[in-house]
Amino acid sequence: MDSSTDLRLPFFPIGQGCMGIGGQIQVQKVDEQEQIHAIRFGIEKGLSLLDTAEVYAGGYSELIIGKAIHGIRDKVFLATKFSPENSGYKEVIAAAEGSLRRLGTDYIDLYQAHWPNPSIPISETMSALAELVSTGKVKNIGLSNFSKREMIAAQQILPSIKLYSNQLEYNLFDRFVEHEILPHCKLTNSLLIAYSPLDRGRNGSSHPSNELLNELSKKYERTNSQISLNWLVSRGNVVPIPKATNSKHIEENASSLDFQISFEDLELINKAFDSNPQLIPTNEINVSATGEGDRKVYQSRSEAIENNLNLSPSPLELAEFIRSGELAKPVRLVMRKDDAKGLKYDLVEGRLRYWAWVLAFNGEKPVPAYVRYT
Ligand code: NAP
Repeated sequence: MDSSTDLRLPFFPIGQGCMGIGGQIQVQKVDEQEQIHAIRFGIEKGLSLLDTAEVYAGGYSELIIGKAIHGIRDKVFLATKFSPENSGYKEVIAAAEGSLRRLGTDYIDLYQAHWPNPSIPISETMSALAELVSTGKVKNIGLSNFSKREMIAAQQILPSIKLYSNQLEYNLFDRFVEHEILPHCKLTNSLLIAYSPLDRGRNGSSHPSNELLNELSKKYERTNSQISLNWLVSRGNVVPIPKATNSKHIEENASSLDFQISFEDLELINKAFDSNPQLIPTNEINVSATGEGDRKVYQSRSEAIENNLNLSPSPLELAEFIRSGELAKPVRLVMRKDDAKGLKYDLVEGRLRYWAWVLAFNGEKPVPAYVRYT
């Protein structure tokens, strides 16, 4: 492995996230032509890295992308992911064949393990990925939502194939990756692909320091989103993949690197948007049936233990991971207006992690959380 691999990218350093194309996790009724048009418009503007996954809209996202890139395959860098339940050798190969078919292509530029699966040895997953690379069906291997320790373990198994990237949430509100993962990416010269770079469209507006973003956007005559994307890229080794279907948003994202934020202003942003999560007692948190995205959730400890939804990793497996001392990504909470029954927060994201945390420490240890105020 050559750890000094040149980081010059084969694409513009901002991509297009495609969760939401065809639906989020479940298929939704969408105007397919409009979505195809949005993707092609983004490619024309230079946003040529497309990120999708077999799970997005049950494969429909990949199908729509396949239609959008028809005739222009050589102009895009196609990144997709296989789901954790497909991490066994045969399953990885079959998942790749499914993605290739839906995308209408004979190679994937970046094939990513969407989430770690602790019940399948990483060596099995990696040997299937090596097989896909050797047949030319996959050009590069990446990870997503892997910890630093898991990145190291995966790389040690395949020393001859350099891990290209790890994809994690990274935005002004959630800077968890800065603790271990981004420094590790820099050390190994791999990319951190930043998902939800605009905090799912909220873009700092739920953070007490949002006023600074407003001031800087006036100063540089750019939008808050452009300041955020510019800041993310300035962190080094980071490729943000905002999802945008609105043509004004696409244009903005594509032109968010054509100005330079001064060193002093970047430092102001770094200081104002604190990266340390808060520690919140689990008994102050209300687990609501509805949260962000359209994922199914557990609402009680016993449901989490039974894992009838077959979530992978299961809450118990994730609890083991957390107990082993690994840093777990903080959950997301929103302050409740009414704190009846002592419940001060609603849990809106990270419900699997929340239950894993409760199981790991019997509910006695406060959970790391990012708290939104609106
Ligand atoms: P995001 O990109 O932070 O936010 C998307 C939202 O921001 C959309 O509502 C979009 O609106 C809006 N937006 C885009 N550009 C804008 C701009 N310039 N100004 C104002 N609003 C703007 O969140 P995300 O969709 O969660 O994340 C992006 C991608 O990351 C996903 O599509 C997916 O590919 C990836 N992802 C990966 C994982 C993983 O586990 N690996 C998890 C989540 C997401 P319009 O659509 O109306 O333009």
